[in-house]
Amino acid sequence: MGKVIEVMDTTLRDGLQAGSLAMTVQEKLAIASFLLTGVGVDRIEVASARTPKGENDWLKIITLWAKEHDKLDRIEVLGLVDIKQSADWIAESGCKVMNLLVKGAEDYCLSIGKTCDRHIEEMLETIDYCKNIGLMVNIYLEGWSEGVQTSWDYLKRILHSIPQHKVERVMLCDTMGILYPAQIGGFVKKTLKILYYSKVDVHMHDDYGLATANTLAGVSTGLVSGVHVTVNSMGERAGNASLEQVVVGINDLTNHATKVSEPLLKKLCQMASSFCGRPIPANAPIAGSNIFVDGCGVHVHGRKKGAYATRLIADRFGSTHTSAISSLSGKSGLRSALEQELGITTLNNSEIQSLLDKVSELHLNGHRLTAGHLLSLVSEVLNQPERIVLSVKNGDVISRSVLGGKANVQAKLLYRNEEIQFESYGDGGFDAFMNGLKTWAVTSHICIPELLDFSIRIPSEGKTDALTEVDIRWSRLDGRGEFHTIGTSSDQVMASIHSAIMAVNVCNQNVAS
Ligand SMILES: [Zn+2]
Repeated sequence: MGKVIEVMDTTLRDGLQAGSLAMTVQEKLAIASFLLTGVGVDRIEVASARTPKGENDWLKIITLWAKEHDKLDRIEVLGLVDIKQSADWIAESGCKVMNLLVKGAEDYCLSIGKTCDRHIEEMLETIDYCKNIGLMVNIYLEGWSEGVQTSWDYLKRILHSIPQHKVERVMLCDTMGILYPAQIGGFVKKTLKILYYSKVDVHMHDDYGLATANTLAGVSTGLVSGVHVTVNSMGERAGNASLEQVVVGINDLTNHATKVSEPLLKKLCQMASSFCGRPIPANAPIAGSNIFVDGCGVHVHGRKKGAYATRLIADRFGSTHTSAISSLSGKSGLRSALEQELGITTLNNSEIQSLLDKVSELHLNGHRLTAGHLLSLVSEVLNQPERIVLSVKNGDVISRSVLGGKANVQAKLLYRNEEIQFESYGDGGFDAFMNGLKTWAVTSHICIPELLDFSIRIPSEGKTDALTEVDIRWSRLDGRGEFHTIGTSSDQVMASIHSAIMAVNVCNQNVAS
């Protein structure tokens, strides 16, 4: 029987060290509280000491929250070997744990102008000062992965100098992401022979795409008690080991486990993605939008027969398996997509073949197809135009900016062959349109799905009049999960409106039949 591995999430420190990512204090607090009280990670690292004033203000806020929720000892801050400065900075906020960054490779030490002796001396003084003012200390061995290979004598001296009784845990860092899994066991054992600790974390970066594999290799030694991760693999360069992948990997591929709640991982990943404005790649393990989508009809057929089963099933993560809508779907995949996306199960073989022909033609011409396209094609194949309840023509929506930064929209739509009109306001053209649509929908008893995520793409043709694709992820609001629609137009507001109208049709199409 294995052990429960501690998970330390460093999204708010190492993750945000990727300079292109940022969060507001409110967003950081939402992530921190969800990590500790929802998802259930053991510890979080939330800041680096001696960073600009705003960081200290944030630290005070998270510390206050942690005190109120009895989680103060689970909030950690990175500090430097600088005797008092980092310690005072951290203590001033009320935080209790410093992760002390000690140079684990000789060239790292020389780069800050210190000899090994001087660095050790200052490390000991810093640790003593922390203990005197009531801070707990964990030791980061920065560049350990390099030191263990290229400056072992230096690293040995550092390891021998760490005062075991004053330090909670040692944290082995592959700072530049240079290791591969076959090396990890040997390096961990070599290190712990010099300095045995019951609490050892591994901190892996993803420069070769191996951070998850390296972290699992560390855990598999049986000597590692904790792992460092970030949500969505956020972090400098290629990022850190990903929380979602590492947790699921530990649970499935080692004989160890974590306390993290798997069903909440996807929500966490989506929160972090939306706060940072960095989309989750569609093919990202666990949280990617494509991860439980069968693209090939053979797989859909096989899955129905009980084949192609792995432990990675959608239910486990609050998702559902779906089928792609493409030329490769085959009849089996298309039937499955029809049922999942539109609740349609009644097409006969020849209707399915006609539908597949239409899908293939569009897909092979480069169209990305969604539930909205499928509905249009079904209505054509079945000659049931009434399935499309709502439509709009280009030119029937006029959007303009008004004084005060607001947008005004005048819209003319066709609903069940009757013209409807509304005028509305919002923070932009699309917001104004949706405000008007929602107001109209209330009186017409039309369901408007909840917008979950919005992304816009302009194919890289280098032209300002290029077609814009607006891909929106929606919640159906009836417990049947999520779906997405893609609207296309040379005008961005119109592309968004087309996407929204497709979604309304998908959610209300049964009413029409
Ligand atoms: Zn790091």
